[in-house]
Amino acid sequence: KNPPLFQLEHVLKICSKVQPASKGEAVVYWMRMEDLRIHDNRAFSLASAQAVKDNAPLLVLFVLSPQDYIAHDRSARRIDFTLRNLRVMKDTLAKQHIPLYTITHSPRTTLPDRVLSVLAEWKASHLFANIEYEVDELRRDIKVCELANQSGQVQCTFVHDKCVINPGKVTTKENKAYAVYSPFLRAWLPHITDKPDPLACAPDPKPNDLSIHKLAIYSGLFDSSVPAFVEGFELKLEDAEQMRTCWKEGEDVAHAMLSRFLHTRSRASQMGAVDPLTEGVKEPQKEQSKNSRVVKYKDERDRVNADTTSRLSPYLAAGIISGRACIRATMELSNAKKVDASRDTGIGRWVQEIAWRDFYVHVLAHFPRVSMGRPYQEKFSNVQWETNEEHLQAWKDGRTGVPIVDAGMRQANKMGWMHNRVRMIVAMYLVKDLMIDWRLGEKYFMEILIDGDLASNNGGWQWSASTGVDPVPYFRIFNPYIQSHKADPTGEYIRYFVPELAKVKGKGENFILRCTDVLTATCQRCMNHLQRLPKSLDILHLS
Ligand code: FAD
Repeated sequence: KNPPLFQLEHVLKICSKVQPASKGEAVVYWMRMEDLRIHDNRAFSLASAQAVKDNAPLLVLFVLSPQDYIAHDRSARRIDFTLRNLRVMKDTLAKQHIPLYTITHSPRTTLPDRVLSVLAEWKASHLFANIEYEVDELRRDIKVCELANQSGQVQCTFVHDKCVINPGKVTTKENKAYAVYSPFLRAWLPHITDKPDPLACAPDPKPNDLSIHKLAIYSGLFDSSVPAFVEGFELKLEDAEQMRTCWKEGEDVAHAMLSRFLHTRSRASQMGAVDPLTEGVKEPQKEQSKNSRVVKYKDERDRVNADTTSRLSPYLAAGIISGRACIRATMELSNAKKVDASRDTGIGRWVQEIAWRDFYVHVLAHFPRVSMGRPYQEKFSNVQWETNEEHLQAWKDGRTGVPIVDAGMRQANKMGWMHNRVRMIVAMYLVKDLMIDWRLGEKYFMEILIDGDLASNNGGWQWSASTGVDPVPYFRIFNPYIQSHKADPTGEYIRYFVPELAKVKGKGENFILRCTDVLTATCQRCMNHLQRLPKSLDILHLS
């Protein structure tokens, strides 16, 4: 009845009235896994302003919590990406005399006490953080606030930062949360003109210059280093290299990626890693023309045989760039005062995707049951799913025999990322063809994706399984072959990720790859899909 977000907001109101008993010697910003950036970071910015006001040093705390990572099925890739970004940030902040200090803590039940004891050790009077919307994290923050209030030493300020429009703001006339995207979008848009401006860029934190003499006692924090790995989440060397090639760390990379999307054209056959830093620089002119990826996004976004989308999700999920920065950039590009969110333009369509991201966070905040393994639509709680381990494993490995599904899963296994259309295809294949529980797919995605994000992942899975908010109707089942034909008309994507099929060519472009193996042979539904294909398509049967 009262989701944890609103319980936290209630506790925070009390916090704001509690003044620390004595003036502390430091202000702490607690950086979380979803706000790995310095620029346009609300909590960091507020913490800095407080530090300047108090003439106290600003210190940054990061807590690695392996038990939380296990509970959220976090991928080792995401943890490694976090550590890589923390290292870049630690160096950048050190130049501004701001220390970033990392602790590793287990069990998670005692994490609030540990944070409070660190604050006491640092004689901190203020703690700032951005809100995380997962239920466990909200409950943890409530506990932190309560302990801080009891101590009378620390004032907590936790603010919304993840979304363009904060959860709780976009509601129906009856003050209820939206559970359907289109009306959500219509109600979301007008908030962009609210005062204070929700798109306003939070000022950068100020260097610790004023209080440099006070920093001596914190020198140990500067000397500390970010751990090389978190136990239980070590990446194999080869995989670590692959992730480093595909997804470079740092805010500069995220902004280069955004610029690449807004100003340069997509490349056919660019399926694997991209290097925005060198690639972006190589293309000298800003191509605000008809051909940039964002302009073409309306028509090309569902094409998987080229890099037609922004590939910003790992950076957005980790908060290396904010959704607000993305929207501001689209406004600058079109020199517009108003946000374009129409279906008729590439920019508008892309802004709508950022709104989907907001939508799923709002859903998580209002209906926390979705993050606790329960379907949004309770009537689907008792579906009896198939439990075929062999099928599940074949799906995970990309060995189902359905080329587009296998290509997608192999892309995810290799790159830690998959195109949205293919995510929908593989998800629906698992749930509606193999009839395997969507939660197993959701879990596997979290374990392998570098952009694993509870809200978007859960939203995407429940959409595909028809159990969520605004889902595809349960009787609508993607035909993976028709989807394949539309998304990868030349079969190039499939050939790239399924090397067994690399040499297969159709008569023209109008062909569909089909390979027969155990799964397709046993799956009657797949045969049905094949029988439903238009006659004009040339089907290649392979074994
Ligand atoms: P673009 O097309 O360039 O879109 C820009 C940004 O908008 C994305 O980076 C993302 O932040 C947001 N976005 C786009 N589509 C969606 C969407 N359908 N739902 C929510 N946000 C969206 N996204 C994740 O970030 N993490 C996940 O763990 C995740 N799991 C998914 C699981 C399933 C089953 C499905 C169907 C979708 C999932 N998505 C997830 C959403 C979407 O597939 C990815 O965000 C998108 O493919 C990322 O590529 P991009 O950055 O090039 O996107």
